[in-house]
Amino acid sequence: MATGSMTTMEVKKINKHNIYTFIHEQRHTSKQKIVDMLHISLSTVTHNLKLLEEEGLVHRTGYYQSTGGRKAYNFEIVKDARVAVGIDILKDCIHIVAVDLYGMVIKKSKHALNFLIGEDYYQKLGSLVSDFIREGKWDSSHLLGAGIAIQGIADESGTSVSYGPILDNFGLHLSALAQYIPCQCLLIHDSKAAALAELWHNKDITDAAVLFLNENMGGALIRNRKIYQGDNLRGGLLEHISVDPNGELCYCGSRGCLETICSANKLRVLSGLSLDEFFQKLREGDADTGKTWSEYLDRIAFAIRNLQVILDVPVIVNGLLANYMTEEDFKELRNRIAKYSPFPFPQEFLLAGQYGPLTPAIGSALIFIDKWMQTV
Ligand SMILES: [Zn+2]
Repeated sequence: MATGSMTTMEVKKINKHNIYTFIHEQRHTSKQKIVDMLHISLSTVTHNLKLLEEEGLVHRTGYYQSTGGRKAYNFEIVKDARVAVGIDILKDCIHIVAVDLYGMVIKKSKHALNFLIGEDYYQKLGSLVSDFIREGKWDSSHLLGAGIAIQGIADESGTSVSYGPILDNFGLHLSALAQYIPCQCLLIHDSKAAALAELWHNKDITDAAVLFLNENMGGALIRNRKIYQGDNLRGGLLEHISVDPNGELCYCGSRGCLETICSANKLRVLSGLSLDEFFQKLREGDADTGKTWSEYLDRIAFAIRNLQVILDVPVIVNGLLANYMTEEDFKELRNRIAKYSPFPFPQEFLLAGQYGPLTPAIGSALIFIDKWMQTV
């Protein structure tokens, strides 16, 4: 493991980090397997396992499946040795989640709360998050922090909103918004947070485009397992690809953006129904609703067709509408994309997102988990 330029301390730290990461990836393993797979000596592995156990990060859970000979202990990470909170701020409500070191939701809540810049909102937000943390009984040594997903572009340091026409939150600063939240916080654009959640749980993905069919449409790009930011943090704002210069006015000031034809809002306006009502009628075979849905799927297919011509990567469809979509809808969407595309795509290029409305909250919490895991 050691190289000429590394100090003994650095090598020790890397060994410990690699052992912890290996156990995390494997979920359960034995001492001998760590030795064999990481090519580290038995005494080094023994020493580091002892350290990790003393720190409460790794524990023994019975015996590893035996391959003959002496029984070996099974080692696993302590999943809730650290937790992180994620908050998703929407126009009329907030979602709060806590995730463990595997990114699994261990606690969640949703509260009606109309977004409004000002002290009253900051206090209510702080009080709801404080209650959530108190109920979870996490002390400050276990709680890594709270990520706040918000509709609007957060600056690189996650401390303020640099573009936010949907919530009219331009210039909103973390120090104001999070002043009553009793832990370290950071801000992140909700689409990027959601893409992080997808990335965390799809270990096979290297590059992807992510479409969020929420009230407002969202988009993000993943390149080399990182969220693509662009030079001005505007990379991946797929919702503002304009497909009709004479189309409907978008909140960004342009006309004919995908937002104006592919958002969940648009489906509601076109149908005059709530999404629950719309999909209930659709599943009952109502002809008008069927026609509206068919036209909507066509527009999504057209958008994905255009993305694919440029990107040629898997596309993850997530968000509010994705929750209502059946396998049959996804199959239909695939067929239509194939119909419009100039070349064939592999069958598995279109993926359904996995976490529904909680995705941005989960992704914003994972930022803290991810950062902490680098430090073990
Ligand atoms: Zn736009």
